[in-house]
Amino acid sequence: MRIFDPHIHMTSRTTADYEAMYAAGVRAVVEPSFWLGQPRTAPASFFDYFDALLGWEPFRAAQYGIAHHCTIALNPKEANDPRCAPVLDELPRYLVKDSVVAVGEIGYDSMTPAEDAALEAQLQLAADHELPALVHTPHRDKAAGLRRTLDAVRRSDLAPELVLLDHLNETTVDEARDSGCWLGFSLYPDTKMDPDRMVRILRSHGTERMLVNSAADWGRSDPLTTRQAGDAMLAAGFTEDEVDQVLWRNPVAFYGQSGRLDTAAPGPAAGAATHEGNSILRGGS
Ligand SMILES: [Zn+2]
Repeated sequence: MRIFDPHIHMTSRTTADYEAMYAAGVRAVVEPSFWLGQPRTAPASFFDYFDALLGWEPFRAAQYGIAHHCTIALNPKEANDPRCAPVLDELPRYLVKDSVVAVGEIGYDSMTPAEDAALEAQLQLAADHELPALVHTPHRDKAAGLRRTLDAVRRSDLAPELVLLDHLNETTVDEARDSGCWLGFSLYPDTKMDPDRMVRILRSHGTERMLVNSAADWGRSDPLTTRQAGDAMLAAGFTEDEVDQVLWRNPVAFYGQSGRLDTAAPGPAAGAATHEGNSILRGGS
């Protein structure tokens, strides 16, 4: 089973996670920029983080045979902090980078006017750069959050096929599907969506435009829920081809719209054991 996790925050994960992911079949990931669990106090903090998503993290992933791309944005939560607003002006210089395959994650957290403005500006940036957008839908008040998200997408210059609506569930899947956007489902260990609920949604809605991700980060999460979804699909009678469509071909098709996706698994890089002089070994060479 080959797996492309289209939404995972590897910066928060360990090398043991990379090993387990590779063993489970993960060969490619997209890491969206997001918040750190505590507020950043200055734009420079974002820029160091973006640079890590562009340099250090792909290097680390490559040591474990996993292709790493990222999405760059001012996340919804910190869009409410005026100290972070200048980040928006600097995004264009990141959105031209080779391994940036979308603008994201953008969308709503608490559905404030500041979030409206940041979402609108960043959907426009995606359209201007001919990039897809990864749009986070709120974990609270999901139906209203999706409606407000879809209103913003419809007002924008970005075509629905360039939008991935993430963190969907049974209450939002129908309306999201009717929008023409791609549909993302984040599977968590014990709350929100899980593999069995995912299988039921795939049974009722099919495998077209459907993406499954672990959204694993610094919180309670599991980078192997994608594999668990694949196993649950097979146990429920889906074919290997259908599993491959959901876990590999759909994310490749969505992020491939950037024109920058390279899913050739890099393999442990014998010749490149350091990134800017630093290695993942401690004190070794
Ligand atoms: Zn996320």
